Amino acid sequence: MPIKFFNTLGRKKEVFEPIDPKEVRMYTCGPTVYNYPHIGNYRAYTFADIIKRVLTYEGYKVKQIMNLTDVDDKTIRDSQKEGKPLKEFTEFYTEEFYKDEKMMNILPASKFTRATDFIREMVEIIQKLLDKGLAYKSEDGSIYFDIRKFKNYGKLSGAVLAEQKENASGRIKSDEYEKDNMQDFALWKAWDEGDGNVFWETKLGKGRPGWHIECSAMSMANLGEQIDIHTGGVDNMFPHHENEIAQSEGATGKSPFVKYWMHNEWVLVDKKKMAKSFKNFYTLRDLSEKGINPLAYRLWLLMAHYRSKANFTWDALEGAETALSRLYRQYLDLGEDNGSVNEAYKQKFKEYLEDDLDTPRALTVVWDLLKDEKVSPANKRSTLLDFDKVLGLGLAELKEEEVPDEITKLAKEREIARKNKDFKKSDDLREKIKQLGYEVKDIEGGYKISKL
Ligand code: AMP
Ligand code: ZN
Repeated sequence: MPIKFFNTLGRKKEVFEPIDPKEVRMYTCGPTVYNYPHIGNYRAYTFADIIKRVLTYEGYKVKQIMNLTDVDDKTIRDSQKEGKPLKEFTEFYTEEFYKDEKMMNILPASKFTRATDFIREMVEIIQKLLDKGLAYKSEDGSIYFDIRKFKNYGKLSGAVLAEQKENASGRIKSDEYEKDNMQDFALWKAWDEGDGNVFWETKLGKGRPGWHIECSAMSMANLGEQIDIHTGGVDNMFPHHENEIAQSEGATGKSPFVKYWMHNEWVLVDKKKMAKSFKNFYTLRDLSEKGINPLAYRLWLLMAHYRSKANFTWDALEGAETALSRLYRQYLDLGEDNGSVNEAYKQKFKEYLEDDLDTPRALTVVWDLLKDEKVSPANKRSTLLDFDKVLGLGLAELKEEEVPDEITKLAKEREIARKNKDFKKSDDLREKIKQLGYEVKDIEGGYKISKL
C-alpha cells in the first residue's frame, strides 16, 4: 500500500511521493527556547517523530531539520526579565529541551539549527524580496512583506486577503497574531530600545529578524529551496506557515516551497487549548514529580489520531500508564528468545500507519498479537520489537527488574509448600510477597516473580 498523508495544502489525503526518492527532506518547527515546553508542545514533536519513524520503517532515508528559535519577541522579553544575556538564557532551555526529547523517546533531528546562526541567510532572502518589490522598508527602518503583492497569500490557511476585510490594512510588527489581524508582516525589525543589546548590523540596517523568516531561511539553507514535509501544530498554519510560503516562494519563484504540509491538533485541558498564556499547562517535570513515566504520555498521544483533539486529564494519563505497564509485563513474560517477525500482523500494522498515521488502530494490532495463542512467544517478541521501531515505547531497553533476595527466598519457600500440597502456607506466603510489592505467578515448570 502506498503511504497517504493528509496535506493541509488542499485539505485531503494524498499519496506520499518524495521529490527525491533517495532522501525525504523534512522540516519541523521546533521550540522557542524561552521556557520549558509544556506537554502539549510535545504532541507536535512526537507527531513529527512518528512521521520520521514511519518513513524510516518503510525504507526511506529521512533528513529532518528542527529549528530552535533563540531570538524572537519572547526570548528577548524573558531574558531581559531574568537579567541574562540572550545566548546564556536560550542555551539553558535548549539543553532542557534535549533532555525532554530523550525522555519522550523522540529521535533527535538530523540537525538542530539555531536561528541566530542563520542571520546572514535571512538577510539574503529579505534582500531578494526587496529587490523583487515584494517587501518594503517602513519609516522606522523595519522591513515588511507586502502580502498584496503575493497572489497566493492565504493558500495554506484559507486566510482571506486583506483587501476583502474592513479592518485589515497597515502592518503588524509582533511575531504572533490571529487571522482577523492579517496585515503586512515584519521580516526585519529595526532596533528599538526594547531590544536592548540584541541586534545585528547588516546591510538591511541595525535590527533583528522577524520570527517567520527564520524558518524559511533555515529550511532552505539546510534542505534546499523545495522540500517534502513541513510539520507543526495547527496554530502554526496561520500566520507562521502562511508567511513562510510567501517569503520562500516569493524569493525563489519556485512553488511549492513544501509539498506536504502536516499539522497536529491540540492537546486540550477542559476543552481549552493547553497553552502557557492560559496557565493550564503541565510540563514533563510535573509528570516526573507524580512518578509518571513520560512514555505513558507518549502512549496516550499515540492512542489518539494526530488530527483529533486530545483532552488531557490525569485519569486518562493513568489509564495509559496502566496500559503501558501491561504491555511491558506481557512483553517481558515472552522470555528472551527471539523468533521471526509475524508478517500478517506486520502487514496490518503497516496498513494502518500508511493510512495517514493511524496510530490508534496500529496499537490494536499490538494487543491482538499479544492475545493470539497461535503465535509463539519468541515470534511475538520479535514482532513487538519491530513495531516498537515506530511506536518508540522503549521495549528494546526493557529489562526484568532485579528481585530482592528476601522476595526470592519467600518465593522459594512458597514453591516448596506448594509442592508439599501445603496450600494454606503457600497462600500465606503469596500474600506476604504481595504486601512487599511483588507477585508470584505459577508458570510451566516453575514460577515467576514480578513487581506489582
Ligand atoms: P511554540 O513553542 O508555541 O512555537 O509551540 C511549539 C509547537 O507546539 C508548535 O508546533 C505548536 O503548534 C505546538 N503546540 C502548542 N500548543 C499545543 C497544544 N496545546 N497541543 C498541541 N500542540 C501544541
Ligand atoms: Zn517555524
